[in-house]
Amino acid sequence: MNTIRKIIIPSVLALLIALSLVSCGDTSAPSVDTVDDLVFTPIETDGAPGTASDAAGQTEEPPAAFESAVTSPVTDEDQVQPQDTEANEDTAPEATDGIPAYVPAVPTGDGNAPLALMYHLVLDQPFSSLESLFVRPSELRGHIEALLEKGYTFIFADDYDYYSGKTVIMSFDDGYLDNYTEVFPIIKEYNVKITIFMISNYINGADYLSADMIKEMSSSGLVSFQSHTASHPDLTTLSADSLRYEFKTSNEAIESLTGRPVRALCYPTGANNAFVQSVASEYYDFAYTTVSTTSTAGYGALELPRLRVNRGFSKDYFLSIIP
Ligand SMILES: [Zn+2]
Repeated sequence: MNTIRKIIIPSVLALLIALSLVSCGDTSAPSVDTVDDLVFTPIETDGAPGTASDAAGQTEEPPAAFESAVTSPVTDEDQVQPQDTEANEDTAPEATDGIPAYVPAVPTGDGNAPLALMYHLVLDQPFSSLESLFVRPSELRGHIEALLEKGYTFIFADDYDYYSGKTVIMSFDDGYLDNYTEVFPIIKEYNVKITIFMISNYINGADYLSADMIKEMSSSGLVSFQSHTASHPDLTTLSADSLRYEFKTSNEAIESLTGRPVRALCYPTGANNAFVQSVASEYYDFAYTTVSTTSTAGYGALELPRLRVNRGFSKDYFLSIIP
């Protein structure tokens, strides 16, 4: 049975998903989740692999409704690390091949909990009815300016507990093409870091990032590519073998392009459970959900929440909801 699942289920899922827009929605994870789900539904495309299409059930919320999503989980003092060492500096040394050398980070040990943000697409014109996923480029600029004005340092998702002070993880799910055409020029302008959770089977797919784009973005030192699995399945339906296949395959594909270890995972649609987390722990130090809050304090390293950022969030609104 395991063999059948290992071979057939991922194949079928990969086929279905390759024909659809992938979106990340809420999950099975903890009870603190109060934001509307993004529902992943296969298809309704012109049949071109990787072509985005609509998913049902997503409505754009007025920003005010978002405040209800802000929750305050119980703080877990056990999250404090025993070590107390200096955090890495933002600048990585330049390697001879032009790619910044990877510098393993060291936990600060101060229990600092970054703000984590979840984005998908940044485009003025949505190409699906999931309009809330399409943050406008001008809005993204406003969010970056708001974060800088509030004194945040931008860090990578795989450096979760490696910095002290006010830190933010700006993450983008799935690896859409606009992350290169729209987001990359903006973050270079502001010199801030982002993380892209890439679905490795979609690399070079229509509407998704190419291998060359990933190499260029990673080499800039401003973009960390981490795993969003190989085929974006519902991980809670998979066997241990299938989970390991998703994790190992995606890590290897991404690492072969970036030359950097993949140490963070983003659960497709956020779906996870204790079993998924236990297998994920074999491959990752950190894993992110779609539970939406303005602080990751009190959450385990394999169930880190991210504030959902929607189209329509102005700079002023953003300033009003972030700590
Ligand atoms: Zn996704």
